[in-house]
Amino acid sequence: MTTADWAEVDHYLVETLVGDGDSETLRANAAAGLPAIDVSPPQGKFLYLIAKSVRARRVLEVGTLGGYSTTWLARAVGKSGQVVTLEYEPKHAEVARVNLERAGVGERVDIRVGAALDSLPVLAEEQPEPFDVVFIDADKVNNANYVRWALRLTRPGSVIIVDNVVRNGAIADADSTDVAVRASREVIELIAAEPRLDGTVLQTVGGKGWDGFAYAVVLGEDD
Ligand code: SAM
Repeated sequence: MTTADWAEVDHYLVETLVGDGDSETLRANAAAGLPAIDVSPPQGKFLYLIAKSVRARRVLEVGTLGGYSTTWLARAVGKSGQVVTLEYEPKHAEVARVNLERAGVGERVDIRVGAALDSLPVLAEEQPEPFDVVFIDADKVNNANYVRWALRLTRPGSVIIVDNVVRNGAIADADSTDVAVRASREVIELIAAEPRLDGTVLQTVGGKGWDGFAYAVVLGEDD
């Protein structure tokens, strides 16, 4: 099987079950020259369903790009919910702002521009209500740092998802010198060692190739 085969399956799933989420956002991103590194529509729907499953009202996203995953998450939290999304590149944030407005969810999304490791302490200072879901999809080298911040900003029962941890299977190579692979292994080992988290990794194939999500739940004293 090849990525083209997997893409064909994605296409079928989008037509039958998933919907495209907001293909206008993907078109606008391409027109603005943004890289096509958004989640795929089935993955976006998966994020939406997770947020719906836990009745999330507050979502934190690290890595906005043009707001494609943000739109799925913003739809899941509903009119009274909020998504805070962190983006380093001002141009990406601007494209996202326009996309989110057009998709009708702009009012429930707070886009913060800057390096996430600068934005997160500012956010924590504000003592926000705990986030129900955290989606981490930015610079992979900081994944473990983002999970540590997510632990400070969530509550027992919250879900933390880290995208792109399988990296075409390279994650199995303990000797890899690729910084993103090493960062994936670091974040998985952090989830394994951290007593406040329980998690797994779900491998995925599709139009975006072979990769996977780390999925962790924040534990409470009774767990
Ligand atoms: N979640 C998006 C989606 O599925 O539609 C895709 C996000 S894309 C994979 C990663 C984004 O993270 C890029 O827009 C990039 O500019 C941003 N980014 C990279 N380093 C960052 C950092 N240190 N802080 C915040 N955002 C960062």
